[in-house]
Amino acid sequence: MLRFLWIGLLLLVSGCATVPRGPGAGQETTLESLCGKYAMACAWDGVTQTITMEHNGRRIQALVGSNIVMVGSTKLAVSAPLKRRQGVVIVPPDFERLVFPTEAVPFAGGRAFHGLGKIVVDAGHGGKDPGAIGFGGLKEKDINLDIAVRIARNLRDAGIDVVMTRDKDEFITLPDRTIAASQPGVDLFVSVHSNATKSRRVQGFDVYASGPLNTEDKVEPQRVQNGKKLCGQLKMRQDLAELKEIVIGMAYTQKLKTTPYLAEAVARGLAQELRQGEHASKMARYFVLRNTLVPAILIEVGFITNPHEAAQLKDGAYRQKIADAVTKGLTRCMHAQGF
Ligand SMILES: [Zn+2]
Repeated sequence: MLRFLWIGLLLLVSGCATVPRGPGAGQETTLESLCGKYAMACAWDGVTQTITMEHNGRRIQALVGSNIVMVGSTKLAVSAPLKRRQGVVIVPPDFERLVFPTEAVPFAGGRAFHGLGKIVVDAGHGGKDPGAIGFGGLKEKDINLDIAVRIARNLRDAGIDVVMTRDKDEFITLPDRTIAASQPGVDLFVSVHSNATKSRRVQGFDVYASGPLNTEDKVEPQRVQNGKKLCGQLKMRQDLAELKEIVIGMAYTQKLKTTPYLAEAVARGLAQELRQGEHASKMARYFVLRNTLVPAILIEVGFITNPHEAAQLKDGAYRQKIADAVTKGLTRCMHAQGF
């Protein structure tokens, strides 16, 4: 029961950030008929209005009144909330197509990811803050912006809504970057940086996922503010501080569960594309990772203090390769694992 409540709350939390999509082709259908068609075990919890199904070894969970369906750890948004009519659960026309796809969704071209809201692409530094200064005076802010713009273009081409924290050379504070990730409909935050160190020999990319928070992090003003924003977007009592804390904690727990998959997928994509053997993702407590409540990753695309890597990063074709690898990693993961 408690588990069901948890799932229900999670679905409510996930659901808040997603704008229902337009109607798909076909007719409304009953969940019962789908359970029969796919020979699934379907369990119904009348108290929490939660439905749990098993299909091809994957657990599918949905909540009456919400348009969010969890398939394994993948969050899908169907076109309308599930309804209950005369004791029967009614699902919208696109439920079957989205929850039981018959073929893999290709990367790029067309709306591949119906379940996603927006991705915030964050180009680190900018304006008066150049970030690191690399070999031959190369500025981190310029590399970050160019790669972020390329990632955003790729994602938009794949049918995903993108918001950029900056699309030109301007200064944006760290709190403002996390505020961009707290807007309704945002599902993911991707920050692009370039690395630097005193040794010219060090090279290679790194991908960071959000790590667990310490006691101080949990009361950090920006996190509290972003948490209030999240709760404000939910249909819940706004006068109960304890409830807000629970909801914010749950959102972050969900983020910790899903982000490593994304970071790992992006690291793998980069390792393949750039032919670098080392590809393990890491955990970090960077400001933008710990103060956002949606899954957030930070990519260090390479060391601008390494002469060889700096020369590569000056080349547009190489920066496009990085953007393509990041996009592929993100989209593959969102499809295969999702959040
Ligand atoms: Zn940086």
